[in-house]
Amino acid sequence: MTLRETGAGVEPRVPSPLLPVEDVRLRGVRLFLKRDDLIHPEVTGNKWRKLKHNLTAAAGHERILTFGGAYSNHIRATAAAGRLHGFETVGVIRGEEHLPLNPSLAYAVSRGMRLTYLDRAAYRRKTEPAVLDRLREEWGDFYLLPEGGSNAHAVRGCAELPAEVGVPYDVICCPAGTGGTLAGIAAGLPPGARAIGFSVLKGGAFLTGEVARLQTEAYGGPRGFWHVETGFHFGGYAKSTPELDAFAAGFADRHGIALDPVYTAKMMYGVYALAGRGVLAPGARVVAVITG
Ligand SMILES: *Cc1c(COP(=O)(O)O)cnc(C)c1O
Repeated sequence: MTLRETGAGVEPRVPSPLLPVEDVRLRGVRLFLKRDDLIHPEVTGNKWRKLKHNLTAAAGHERILTFGGAYSNHIRATAAAGRLHGFETVGVIRGEEHLPLNPSLAYAVSRGMRLTYLDRAAYRRKTEPAVLDRLREEWGDFYLLPEGGSNAHAVRGCAELPAEVGVPYDVICCPAGTGGTLAGIAAGLPPGARAIGFSVLKGGAFLTGEVARLQTEAYGGPRGFWHVETGFHFGGYAKSTPELDAFAAGFADRHGIALDPVYTAKMMYGVYALAGRGVLAPGARVVAVITG
């Protein structure tokens, strides 16, 4: 069962649109935007790709349980997808409950998700049997989706993206949080192309191991030519600087696209910076995935 086959809610828009960008600041790099943010109004962007095969795998379970921070796009998307596909959903949120709920969690609850909270110490142990057993006692049987939804099914869903692009390209870029999206995209590359993931987290070097681990989980070993850029985190997850804000505002002015400050603005800043340094060479065809 895929989102398309059930016909539940709005039909997903796949392949997502590809849009060329004209900008002298790109120094001759030929940039295309892969607009995954337009795939589905509720299950947006890379979260749709990551959930697609997980929803099939979850058949036979009544509920899906997953983990995330209080502002997690994955929590929102899982709540929406659960409602569309007839699964109960449980969101295990890092930290303490804060009332009133922030807009992300209020949205998840509006889609039927039930929330529970783990303090930071317990949250760090969330993959350990003791913590999962306690959650099973509390909630009953569930299909377990890891934090950020990144597992082998998610990787396979994201691996379907590169073949959708429809024009030849040299490099494909995406933001990286847990690395699941990069792992998939890199695994699906056409011959000769490479992938760059821009870490949105400080200390993103660990992502290299994570991406390799996820590819091994999905395919038995590393796949494709890819690397992680660690220099564009702007202070860490959900942090920003005036420079990044000014870049995103300028991009919105020139191209009419609001980049999200947590993920796609950092990637796009990185793409322009690499074009400015000639690391992405004049004439190179570069696809930037607007993941949400
Ligand atoms: C969740 C998310 C990401 C990160 O994807 P990972 O697979 O965790 O690396 C990137 N962009 C957007 C918009 C997201 O919501």
